[in-house]
Order: sequence, then structure tokens, then C-alpha cells
Amino acid sequence: MSDTVRRDSAAPFTTTVLGTARIGPRRELKRAVESYWGGRIDRTELAEVAQRLRGEQWAELTEAGHDSVPVNTFSYYDQVLDTSVLLGALPSRFAEIDDPLDRYFAAARGTADVTPLEMTKWFDTNYHYLVPEIGPDTSFSLNPEKVLAEVAEAKELGVPARPVIVGPVTFLALSKAVDGASAPLDRLDELVPLYRDLLTLLAEAGVEWVQLDEPVLVTDVAADLGPRAESVYDALGTHAQRPAIAVATYFGDPGDRLTYLARTPIEAVAVDLVEGSVETVAGTPGLADKLLIAGVVDGRNVWRTDLDQAAATLATVLGSARSIAVSTSCSTLHVPYSLDAENELDTDLRGWLAFAAEKFREVAVLSSALHEGRVVQAAAFAASTMALASRATDPRLHNDEVRTRLAAISDADATRGTAEQRRVAQQERLGLPPLPTTTIGSYPQTSAIRLARAALRSGEIDRAEYENRMKAEIADVVALQESIGLDVLVHGEPERNDMVQYFAEQFDGYFATANGWVQSYGSRCVRPPILYGDVSRTAPMTVDWITYAQTLTDKPVKGMLTGPVTILAWSFVRNDQPLSTSADQIALAIRDETVDLEAAGVGIIQVDEPALRELLPLRDADKPGYLEWAVRAFRIATSGVRDDTQIHTHLCYSEFGEVIGAIADLDADVTSIEAARSHMEVLDDLDEAGFRNAVGPGVYDIHSPRVPQQDEIYTALSSALSSVGAGRLWVNPDCGLKTRETPEVVESLTNMVAAATRLRGTIS
Ligand code: GLN
Ligand code: ZN
Repeated sequence: MSDTVRRDSAAPFTTTVLGTARIGPRRELKRAVESYWGGRIDRTELAEVAQRLRGEQWAELTEAGHDSVPVNTFSYYDQVLDTSVLLGALPSRFAEIDDPLDRYFAAARGTADVTPLEMTKWFDTNYHYLVPEIGPDTSFSLNPEKVLAEVAEAKELGVPARPVIVGPVTFLALSKAVDGASAPLDRLDELVPLYRDLLTLLAEAGVEWVQLDEPVLVTDVAADLGPRAESVYDALGTHAQRPAIAVATYFGDPGDRLTYLARTPIEAVAVDLVEGSVETVAGTPGLADKLLIAGVVDGRNVWRTDLDQAAATLATVLGSARSIAVSTSCSTLHVPYSLDAENELDTDLRGWLAFAAEKFREVAVLSSALHEGRVVQAAAFAASTMALASRATDPRLHNDEVRTRLAAISDADATRGTAEQRRVAQQERLGLPPLPTTTIGSYPQTSAIRLARAALRSGEIDRAEYENRMKAEIADVVALQESIGLDVLVHGEPERNDMVQYFAEQFDGYFATANGWVQSYGSRCVRPPILYGDVSRTAPMTVDWITYAQTLTDKPVKGMLTGPVTILAWSFVRNDQPLSTSADQIALAIRDETVDLEAAGVGIIQVDEPALRELLPLRDADKPGYLEWAVRAFRIATSGVRDDTQIHTHLCYSEFGEVIGAIADLDADVTSIEAARSHMEVLDDLDEAGFRNAVGPGVYDIHSPRVPQQDEIYTALSSALSSVGAGRLWVNPDCGLKTRETPEVVESLTNMVAAATRLRGTIS
């Protein structure tokens, strides 16, 4: 069979990663893309930056000794959007935009005329992808230009290129059916010929290996993923002219899906052996004639690999496959580039860590130990053992006071008065009008804020001057909100670089990186702090800012905090204790802050949990346990206050379906929730989950620069009003405003307040 011929022509590789970041070690791509959007550079300059970043990353991998290098993991915005383009699946509303790059960015960000694709979290990570829309009229067609160009570019540089493409099962499973279309997965058969054509083109371009990413195979999003994957990869595997195929699963254990894959004629599978188990591999007989890409180096957390343990894992799976390649568990998209950019880390801490560049080397060390013998790498193994011992015995990991407090938590600490008691007490205290208007917390990060932050960092100004400048910002934002006529004001969060980092930096048990940026969505990057020890709050963190803002207005000012689950989700977490323990520790620290805010006279406190959905385990069996500890942590954080103190929460960035019951269980008095991009569907879902507290469905999309008109907000609000009724409806945008510009914010909020006022007139 031609199968055998191919296998011999594509030699198995030994050392690789499943993918890499693309934003650039110094966020070069972010700057370039934003400059392009702002008209400050042209597309040639943008392309040059992109090409240079790709080349540098490939060079780093080949220099580290990798003999197969992922390409096409570069993206100007998002790899799922790239796949929608590849498969010709962009919705027809973008068809009028002739220029491919303009069309691409329009699909990502919207324009004055078209709304962008929805955005949601990529599995259980903090990366967001653009959700493909599959309607009854969607027809697929192949647009392979990007992948072929990147392959050619890599070949030119002599890179052993392995193009990476989102696989058809994952692509459709992550898609959303629109306009009454049936489940996108039912259209798998239509995609198969396109992938076959693509394989032919890649083979013609001299590609030896292609990687098709199927992380959806570690989830339970559909019952028949195994059989579906088998039929797709049978069809692709029996295609005559193609490179060798590696199907990559990651972010968890593929379980019996691996058996389905192993039955097909593909040449390799990648398995996440950090989150998955060696038993699954050992229990899959069909791997005996395949290359197993063993993901033993954690691609998404920052801890240095225990080389002994990883080598032992490799030894266990050695007999299960025809050959083994050592790899990261997933793409290193989710970790910072390199420890080289960290100059301020204490040497102990530094020794405990491995960012992407260090992981590239760990993979190479493990591969060399596996294929050439461990003695060759004796020094690296010794260093790993020492670093691990240093971490395990560091006194900063344990705080007895925190442990004692944690052990004493009871159900009473997670319970408030009934919703009705609270509603009455709060109405009495706050006296808000029906359909109260508010915002989610942040206002535009002005250049004054950025300059002040930079000046503080460089020592040009001192702390006191910095605080004066932040207060000036707060005063501006309060005045702005008063002039727009909002009912519940915020201080605008100018002092926060990031809603998680700001708190983490003030907690014991955390440290921050100087340059540990990772892509969150598009050009947006975050710098997750690293949680390494027991967490405690050392002093009030937000009280001064909120009380200052409150002195400037008679309207109530909301206190703003980030919830325990979100703090955890947007941190690199310790891997030496259960997440639930870390969550409770953070919950207690946030609880201390809510109590202090209340004592300072703050009547409304918002505890944001936008990441509640993100940490949801990928397997159904693990979900209830997670939701239980997540909800409890939020309730511990918010139940230390009186009934007349109004607790708000905010959720965004996701399909809420599976966590809707948990949102109700949070029992916040007011929940603001992203709904603009998902068209208010969420309200009916909340209602079905028995949610009866107040809710503010986002009435316009802040992720796009487009200014919503009063009429469209009015329409959205009217439909919300018919779902939830006047007594429970709040009016707000769907998320914080910090990524927007002040003029568009003023216009949008003015339209929002006008729409609310108009609607208010119809109800009393
Ligand atoms: N309070 C935060 C803000 O307005 C919430 C951000 C978020 O939900 N991601 O920026
Ligand atoms: Zn939000």
C-alpha cells in the first residue's frame, strides 16, 4: 500500500513542540498590528515584522536541537479565525470587503458596518478564539495561501517545517450554528475533501509531516467524537498524495478517542502526558506502528520540569509505540517567551521556572536522554533535582496563619441573608431608580495613565506624585460619568495595570514577572502573576481609591474587586496543591477587602468573576466538583458583609451554558453579564436556571470600536425588559472600557443612558 511508502519517506522525528507563541518576545507583533490599525505603518511593514518574528522562533527551535518545527502557528490575530479563512467559512456579511487583510481584521474586530465574530475562550485557557459561524448558506472552499506561504518561507530557511492546522473535528465542534443551521459537526463530510486537497498541496510543497490539532478529542462536547474522528482520519489517511499525518490531542486525556485514532492510517499522535495519563497510551494497542509525540513538558504552566519524572513517563510509554518524539504537552502559546527577559527575579524563584525557551531546551534534553542515553545529560538532570528540592523546602510556601484560618471556614462563612431580605435592605439604603445605569469598572487607559506608570517605574516620579496623577484621572472619570448621567459610578480603575495582577502584586505568596507576556486575544496580552506560596492580604488594597472617588460625588461609587476564581485563572498556579485550596486562600484575602470597604462606607461592591467558565474542566465528570469549589470561594469572598451592602459580579467572554446554574448559585445581588455579542440569549438561560436576582445584560459590545446607536440599545433593552422585568434589570455595557478611546466611550454611554431613560419612561 502507498501507506508504507509514505511512512518510509517521512522519517519519524524525535524532538519538537506542538506550537509556539507569535506575539513576539517584546510584544513586537502587538505593536505592529496596532500601528497598522492606527494607520501608522503599512501592510508591508506589518508583514516584515511578522516574518522576522517567525524566523526568530524557528531559528530558536532548530538551535535548541529540534528536528521538526511547527509552522503556521503564526497568526495576525487567531488561529481559529485563520482556519475559517482557510476553509472559506467566513460569514457572508464580510464578503463585501474585497481586500483579504481588511476582511480578516473586520471579522476579528468589526467595522462601522459589520459586527465581528463572537469571541470565546480556547478550551480551559485564557486565550480567546473567534467563533466560526456556520449557517445554512455556509459553503466551504479552500484558501491555502497562508499556510503554503509560511511553509515556503520556512523551507527557504532550511527549517524542518511541520505545518500545524486546526483539524476538521475541532474546527466544527468549536463552531456556532447560526440562522437555524443544524449542528456544524454534521458537516464533517464536506470538509474532508478540502483537507484532502490541502494535504495534496502540502505534499507538492515538499512537506513531510503535517500536524492536525484535535484538542476537542479530550472533551465531552459531543458523544460520538471518537467515531467521527475515526471516519475523518480514515478518509484523510487513505488519501494517496499526502505528507505523514500527526494528529495532536492536548489539554487533557484523550481516553478511548485514542483508540479510534490509532485504528486509522495516520502516522503519529500527540498525547498530553502532563494532564493525560500513561495508562491511556499503554491501553491503546494500535499505537505499535505509530510515532507517539509524548507531551511530557508542561506547555501551559511555568514550572521547571521534573526531568526524572518526565524521563520515567517516557520510559513507561516507550514500548507502546513504534517510536517516540519528546514534546511539550501543548503549544507554548500560553507561556512567556524566555526567562532571559526577567532580571528582577530572586535566584531561587528563577531556578524553579521554565518559560518557552527553557522548555524548548528541556524537551531537547529529555529527547537526548531517551534516544542517546541519560549519562549524556547527567548535568541537566542534576540541576533539575536541585531546583526541585529548593522549591519543595522553601519556607515561603507555607503560612501557618493562613492554614489555620482556612481550616476554620464553615458554611456560615459562605452564606448571607435571603435574596429578598437583601433586596429590601439595599433598596432602602441606595434608593436607586428602576433600570439603573452603570459601567463594568474600567475607563479608557489614557496616555496620562500610561505615562505616569512608566514614570513611576523609571523613578522619574515618586509614589506620592503617581497617586496624585491617578486621583486626577479618577476625578476626570467621575466628572465624566456625572455629566453622562449614570446612576452608579465607578472610579475607573486607572491604578490597575491589570485586574488580576494588581491584586496579586499586593498579596503574599505571589510574584510578578517583568516581561512574562502571553496573548489573551488578538493584540491583547496579559502578564499573569505567578502563585507559588500560601496567599494572604497584607493591607487594604482598594479602599483609599474608592473612598476618594466617593468624596467627589453624591452618586454611589462601586468598589471593584476581582474574584478568587478569576485571580486563579489568570495566574500561573502552583502545581503542588489542589486549585480549590488556592481558591479558598484567595477568597479569604478578598473577603478581608470587602469587609474593609464596607467599614469605609462603600455600599456597592463588585467582585468580578469573568473567568468562571474558563476553569471549567473539559470532562463532564470533573465539572460538578469544580463548580462547587468555585461557587463556594466566591461566596466566602462576598459573605462577610451586611445585607444592605449590594454585591455585584461580572461575567464575560464565554458561552455560559454549562455554568449558568453556578452563576445563579453565586447569589450576587446584581450580575452584569456579556450578552451583546451573543444577542441576549443568556437571559432566557438564566431564567431557566432559576436565577431571580438582578441582572445587567451587556447592551453593547465594547470589544469593537463601533459606537452603538440609541435605537439599537433601546431595542436590546426592551427585549431584556420583557425577559426579566423592570424590578431586576440593570443597564450596562458588556465589559470594562479600558481598551476603548474616551470619545467613543462618551458617545456610547450617552446613547445607553438615553435609551435607558426612554425605556424608563414607558414603565412607570
Ligand atoms: N472590572 C473590570 C473592568 O472593567 C472587569 C474586566 C473584565 O471583565 N474582564 O475592566
Ligand atoms: Zn468583562
